[in-house]
Amino acid sequence: MQIFDIVIVGGGPIGIACGLEAKKNGLTYVVLEKGTIVNSLYNYPVNMQFFSSSEKLEIDEIPFISNEAKPRRNEALEYYRRITTSNELEINLFEKVVSITKKDEIFATVSNKNEYKSKNIVIATGFYDIPNKLNIPGENLEKVSHYYNDPHFYSKQKLVIIGASNSAIDAALECYRKGADVTLIIRGDEVGQRVKYWVRPDIINRIKEESIAVFYNAEVAEIVENEISIKTENGIKTIKNDFVLALTGYKPNFTFLENLGVELSNDNKRKPVYNENTMETNVKNLYLAGVICGGMETHKWFIENSRIHAKLIVANILKK
Ligand code: FAD
Repeated sequence: MQIFDIVIVGGGPIGIACGLEAKKNGLTYVVLEKGTIVNSLYNYPVNMQFFSSSEKLEIDEIPFISNEAKPRRNEALEYYRRITTSNELEINLFEKVVSITKKDEIFATVSNKNEYKSKNIVIATGFYDIPNKLNIPGENLEKVSHYYNDPHFYSKQKLVIIGASNSAIDAALECYRKGADVTLIIRGDEVGQRVKYWVRPDIINRIKEESIAVFYNAEVAEIVENEISIKTENGIKTIKNDFVLALTGYKPNFTFLENLGVELSNDNKRKPVYNENTMETNVKNLYLAGVICGGMETHKWFIENSRIHAKLIVANILKK
């Protein structure tokens, strides 16, 4: 069996950047992606607009041309797909990695389709696959989703959105503008401070004019078919409800990292241990790249500031 220089797990923007960097430097590699090309971006809301301008999302210095300064999801899909196809990147799609073991300095990566051997591994699996659960009765009902896609679906519906950060606020504004009756449930006492500076005044004004209802310092107690009960400062409030979007963030697959022997910090941040200059973890020749590096602090890393990981990793592999 061929022994690759690198097996890259995850075909998001950063996994692709790692593949391109490996190729440019004459290393043998394969990217294994469990879904389509940039699967997380593919599953973002249809109308989503990046907060970064397009040049900040570029990888391998390949120009990203978009209509507006900040590109939209469909433009990003075009960009990363074109990069993948025109550079003939070795990427195997719809191939999920289920285990990685190491013996005599060689890693064995097993996917649902195949097995690979390599000298190095890069884990670039992001965090978008595992939502932070509410752990309340009714969370598993069909009307509850941890992912938001298209506002049209919620038109003329009583929609509760749980969360106070960018995803929740974007969804609230879009759905309100397509005729949904939106109620926001926010755990703290204000709209998140990290909400995009050009969006925050919009939501605050919609709340002020009562176009969008809000419960601050509140948490959902229970969801049933036609209603939702909310724990507020003034006791339990029950309101009529058709759909719930629980947009309370996502987290990396910590079990996957732990099974690989990657150490995580003992506090609730669960930050993986790695060398910031090389991205190598406490497991020799096993690297982390992209947003997975933040542990529970998923806002710390994004494409803009993590695309550099590809160069750091390949430079370190070449140096060894
Ligand atoms: P991902 O893009 O999440 O890629 C990880 C990939 O790994 C996925 O395709 C997944 O399918 C795959 N995978 C997972 N497990 C396995 C497995 N076991 N086997 C095989 N494949 C696997 N960042 C910015 O820089 N600017 C922005 O404006 C911006 N806006 C954002 C807006 C939203 C709504 C969200 C949610 C995020 C935004 N981000 C933005 C963050 C950005 O999308 C992420 O930083 C980016 O996707 C990270 O790339 P990544 O390659 O590290 O991870």
